[in-house]
Amino acid sequence: MTARILRGDAAAAALEIEDRGQLAYLRGLGVTPGLAIIQAGDDPASHSYVTRKIAIGERYGIRVVHDRFPAACTREELFAAIRRRNDDPLTHGVIVQLPVPDPIRGCEEEIAALISPGKDVDCFHPSNLGLLFRGAPRFIPCTPAGIIYLLKHYGIPTQGKIVAIVGRSLIVGRPLALLLARKGDGDATVIKCHSRTPDLPALLRLADIVVAAVGVPGVVTGAMLKPGATVVDVGVNRVADPGAPRGYRLVGDADFASVSAVAGAVTPVPGGVGPLTVAMLMHNVIRAAAGGRV
Ligand code: NDP
Repeated sequence: MTARILRGDAAAAALEIEDRGQLAYLRGLGVTPGLAIIQAGDDPASHSYVTRKIAIGERYGIRVVHDRFPAACTREELFAAIRRRNDDPLTHGVIVQLPVPDPIRGCEEEIAALISPGKDVDCFHPSNLGLLFRGAPRFIPCTPAGIIYLLKHYGIPTQGKIVAIVGRSLIVGRPLALLLARKGDGDATVIKCHSRTPDLPALLRLADIVVAAVGVPGVVTGAMLKPGATVVDVGVNRVADPGAPRGYRLVGDADFASVSAVAGAVTPVPGGVGPLTVAMLMHNVIRAAAGGRV
């Protein structure tokens, strides 16, 4: 079997078309959605994510402001920037690019709690996580929302299916498990796997859909899969490649060659989940700007 490639850019383009209708409606009301990206330090991966968010935001016609701080900044400076953007009427969405630099690491929960819930387009605020848990979300976290959109876009049902999610982070694995198991919308039976899971291959072999959100290249291989399963590869890992222009290349958590020989469908890395994550960020900014009007 050769797996169908589920291209994220095609699904993201479909979402952008849907959102352009909402943007035009807001423009008619004189509203331009605004996103503030607060970044401290110069982590190279963060820099490339932020550059992409700015470029795509501008393409949508979203007003993106980038508040940059040196790695040596204090948490008070970062917190003050969040408060300023919370109070700025032209800013509808506020995100802090993670990870924060080492000297201020450990304040991620304070950061999440400081962002106004109505502007928390990454959905990290405790009250937004509570709403998500109750099944009445204000925002849906971008990567899980993107994965669900991607599956729907390619006509891959989750109802009555077994989904194995490898990884239980607050950003990907946990909210995705919650969303996929929702009654009436998702309706999957979810197996949640992590670093302490015994016999991962035996569990993955039960699954119709495998989501890998680990950060370890090749942690999911074709031999672990049920033939025909769908594999959603969230991982983004840099591996050294002296032949590549930057000296590295990006790979996912799935061993693409062996997985694509057994799976029915697989997302590539790059070009799979990543574009949907950014498109869902824009979607959440538009929703925040609409304030319930769309
Ligand atoms: P975290 O490091 O927060 O979580 C990793 C999870 O993987 C943990 O739950 C950990 O288990 C589990 N894990 C680690 N090793 C193993 C193993 N050998 N077997 C099974 N489970 C294991 O990562 P994130 O969720 O933030 O990110 C995961 C990956 O996804 C990264 O590569 C990241 O770059 C990428 N990513 C991509 C996005 C995109 O848009 N494409 C968006 C967000 C993330 P435990 O809890 O026990 O420690």
